[in-house]
Amino acid sequence: MENGNTSSNFIKNIMIDDLNSGKHDQIITRFPPEPNGYLHIGHAKSICLNFELADEFNGKTNLRFDDTNPLKEDKEYVKAIKEDVKWLGFEWDGLYFASDYFEEMYNRAILLIKKGKAYVCDLSAEEIREYRGTLTEPGKESPYRNRSVEENLELFERMRKGEFKDGEKVLRAKIDMASPNLNMRDPVIYRISHATHHNTGNKWCIYPMYDFAHPIEDAIEGVTHSICTIEFEDHRPLYDWVVRECEMENQPQQIEFGELGITNTILSKRKLKQLVDEKYVDGWDDPRMPTISGLRRRGYTPESIRNFVRETGVSKTNSVVDVRMLEHFVREDLKLKAPRTMAVLRPLKVVITNYPEDQVEMLEAEINPENPEMGTRNIPFSREIYIEQEDFMENPPKKYHRLFVGNEVRLKHAYFIKCNEVIKDKEGNVVELRCTYDPETKSGTGFTGRKVKGTIHWVDAKHALPAEFRLYDSLILDDEQEEGKSFLERVNPNSLEILQGFIEPNMKDVKPQDKFQFFRHGYFNVDPKYTTKDKIVFNRIVSLKSSFKLNDK
Ligand code: ATP
Ligand code: MG
Repeated sequence: MENGNTSSNFIKNIMIDDLNSGKHDQIITRFPPEPNGYLHIGHAKSICLNFELADEFNGKTNLRFDDTNPLKEDKEYVKAIKEDVKWLGFEWDGLYFASDYFEEMYNRAILLIKKGKAYVCDLSAEEIREYRGTLTEPGKESPYRNRSVEENLELFERMRKGEFKDGEKVLRAKIDMASPNLNMRDPVIYRISHATHHNTGNKWCIYPMYDFAHPIEDAIEGVTHSICTIEFEDHRPLYDWVVRECEMENQPQQIEFGELGITNTILSKRKLKQLVDEKYVDGWDDPRMPTISGLRRRGYTPESIRNFVRETGVSKTNSVVDVRMLEHFVREDLKLKAPRTMAVLRPLKVVITNYPEDQVEMLEAEINPENPEMGTRNIPFSREIYIEQEDFMENPPKKYHRLFVGNEVRLKHAYFIKCNEVIKDKEGNVVELRCTYDPETKSGTGFTGRKVKGTIHWVDAKHALPAEFRLYDSLILDDEQEEGKSFLERVNPNSLEILQGFIEPNMKDVKPQDKFQFFRHGYFNVDPKYTTKDKIVFNRIVSLKSSFKLNDK
């Protein structure tokens, strides 16, 4: 793995050279999502790269919606994308839509026709594919390739007027059917689609193809460095051809970088949309989704995502990083920020038989021992408490240091308690423990009389607030993808576990998106969708520990 942004950022070096040589006096980049889905963490990489690079040189970054495919695009996505980019911490200079440039693109296409560089073709999509040839065989010229300029101009205008059906005709660039680069074999640059566009409505029924539209969009905006993923490397000659032949004033440079992949994670809007449409998840912002909105609802912070993305570096090859690296960065970010409290996820009642019936005492505890500035909180303690079911065992194995009959443990922030008796229901399930406490052992009083090996957490039964906890596992299982096996078959059927438990009463005023560290359980976020006046719902962001070391990656 390379050293991230600092030592080996080849894009930054190109920018430095271009500024030094006087080729450009300002860096202009753009983030160009297609509004056909929500942004995912792969997009975050492109966002950070474009905004941070431009910022480093006092340049500008546009947010531009690449909306040239009306069938798949929607205003809902435009809105969500804007929100996500802002939430990640970036402010765009210009906000543009490719569809704002349709008239200009149309005029540039006419220019190509007039120069004899484009023609209307009647071949079907399938025929065009057949005629294209292969990597080892040259393509065959279309029988329509030599239409006159006049005929092409007339037909293209009639295409625009809606005189033809979808697929009946296309406009193609006239380049070279024998080119070793398949993208240069007379690519389609306009197609007919009688569809309503989210922005232009029914004004147009012909739409420019990505390879024609994108370079024009970049050039119109004066983008200097057009950063995209490696898959477009073979499209670069076409990009340059379009800029040149359309006689664009500005000449942007396309630069490709390696795409971000993450283990156990689907990063493709098309597939993520399928998970949403087929209800594998509860929307684009389901906390198991690798979308920005899903990560936000899960409890990830913008800082943690930016730091993660930075750490993955910028390289010329695609890479797949360990999902635990992402988790590492949210732990790092929340360590000092998140208040620490206690929550019992699977409650077991404990009655402290020698504690006075009506007594309640307030125990004081630090909110975050690693960040004393956060102050202290009060936790009520009385005769009945809840502990975690797994902190008691009837027949404990050796080295089990939590509660069993005859054993003593420390209650975090409170006293030592000893278990004396187990109460069971008719089926033999443990439903209650009878314990005694030792008043001498109160936390913070410096008691040194004896030691216990286990410390467990708890909440006071009378005062605790009920809460729901949602624990997540990977949405996608690790299985190597077998031949013919759809990613849907890799969806983990047990990726969500819902528990009903209790939290400390001092948390009664929590707000959606507040984050906490629950002692021994990990980091949790207050869910903005399911939390109501009467019920607080938490999403577990990550557990506390992982075997992952940053240097392992
Ligand atoms: P998807 O395949 O998920 O639909 P896309 O590339 O088709 O993604 P766009 O909306 O066209 O989606 O992407 C906007 C920008 O984000 C592009 O410049 C694209 O290269 C970049 N991008 C998309 N996925 C990744 C990724 N995994 N890593 C880095 N950049 C990415
Ligand atoms: Mg795409």
